[in-house]
Amino acid sequence: MTSVVVIGGGAAGLVAARSAVLAGAEVTLLEATDRLGGAVASEEVGGVRLDTGAESIAARGRTALDLFAALGLEPVSPAASGAWLQTSGGPFPLPAAGILGIPGSPLADDVRAVLGGRAALRAWLDSVLPVLTIGRETNLGRLVRRRMGSAVLDTLVTPVVRNVYAVDPGEADVEALAPGLNGALTRSGSLSSAVLQLRASAPAGSAVRGLDGGMATLVDALERDLDRFGVRVLRSTPATALTREPGGWRVETPSGPQVADRVILAGSGASARRLLAPLLPGLLEDWPAAHRTTVVTLVVDAPVLDEAPRGSGVLVADGVPGVRAGALTHASAKWPWLAARLPAGRHVLRLSYRGDAAEGTGAEEALADAARLLGREPWELTVVGSAVTPWTQESQRALIGMRSRIEDVRAAVAEIPGLEVAGAWVAGTGLASVLADGDRAGRAV
Ligand SMILES: Cc1cc2nc3c(=O)[nH]c(=O)nc-3n(C[C@H](O)[C@H](O)[C@H](O)COP(=O)(O)OP(=O)(O)OC[C@H]3O[C@@H](n4cnc5c(N)ncnc54)[C@H](O)[C@@H]3O)c2cc1C
Repeated sequence: MTSVVVIGGGAAGLVAARSAVLAGAEVTLLEATDRLGGAVASEEVGGVRLDTGAESIAARGRTALDLFAALGLEPVSPAASGAWLQTSGGPFPLPAAGILGIPGSPLADDVRAVLGGRAALRAWLDSVLPVLTIGRETNLGRLVRRRMGSAVLDTLVTPVVRNVYAVDPGEADVEALAPGLNGALTRSGSLSSAVLQLRASAPAGSAVRGLDGGMATLVDALERDLDRFGVRVLRSTPATALTREPGGWRVETPSGPQVADRVILAGSGASARRLLAPLLPGLLEDWPAAHRTTVVTLVVDAPVLDEAPRGSGVLVADGVPGVRAGALTHASAKWPWLAARLPAGRHVLRLSYRGDAAEGTGAEEALADAARLLGREPWELTVVGSAVTPWTQESQRALIGMRSRIEDVRAAVAEIPGLEVAGAWVAGTGLASVLADGDRAGRAV
């Protein structure tokens, strides 16, 4: 029987371990901390178990949906209330027909409301600009500014891209974030038509799903399956070095070495790259750093929020005075299962702080931001519980030039017998991609 060591018990490692054991391997999973799940995490706040990391998944991921079915988990849709955008000019419903915030119909009422008539007209000029003067632009920020103007970039695209992909549009690779957009632009002749084309070819319905009980129930279910199928799970056991031996691998840990025929390296990015560096000399140098994000979860008693004044939440454009949060999710308005678990008048809010704003953020500041973004006064929200969770997010794959670097890493790893890598740092940060990558790595053994 082939023996496999999986390094890392995040989403990628858990799925890799499951797929490997189902393929007939004898599997040991090493997790550095005392908790499985990595960035899929939960905490009890104000008496409710709440996601403090990932909370939704893109519905397009076939592997993820098949996995949920196999685990007996029922994906749920968010409420249809939609999100809002806070600009320095006020709060507005987030324009509906877009991709990455790029409007498909720049003259639509919801776009004009946010941008004003003049900037909307500038964005519409995209439809008459010759496509050849642009060429194949890889920089998302430049593409949007040239075709539709700075207002679309700053007000609509930047808040969406920063919040969803944890990168700035000016450093983002168009193809990594919107596969097919450039091709559609060339075919259709304008960015807005390209957006409409891509939206038309996307599956109908909401773009994301959640799980009743939160995304962390995925980790519970995977953990149960690993137990059922006899995977040996070693918590608080970090891999500290990885070396090839004749016919297999030796993984050093503080409690002694683990020896196996094959290794799946699914640890989080920086740690995985440290373990890989001696095997791939030169390939991993000067890797861009992961992004820091702090999530503040607030459980509040606030009947004034019963009407969900900002739908499922608010994305924040640059330059909004007095607000440091990049986004607010009104989690109990977004997820009906969560609202059903709360007493009347109680709400769950989740605020994300990125980069410098992630440092030193606490519940008090988050409460002030939440009140401002929801159009209420802080005293109207009584905090029942709070959690402050710092994260690093492996969003580098979205950066210009990184897709080809990652392909080089994958190609070099493929040359090394018995080694697989998986996880957000190579697959991209979305859970759908991470689960698919873990599954692929597990099956490959
Ligand atoms: C705040 C936040 C919100 C997010 N929201 C969403 C969302 O709503 N939807 C979505 O699709 N995606 C979301 N993501 C992204 C998604 O959650 C992650 O990309 C994904 O969970 C990463 O999984 P992973 O297994 O690659 O890495 P990780 O989750 O980082 O797991 C890696 C695991 O490996 C362990 N490890 C590291 N080094 C070692 C070692 N040397 N030995 C042993 N173990 C080791 C770590 O302790 C960790 O448990 C979010 C991410 C964050 C941070």
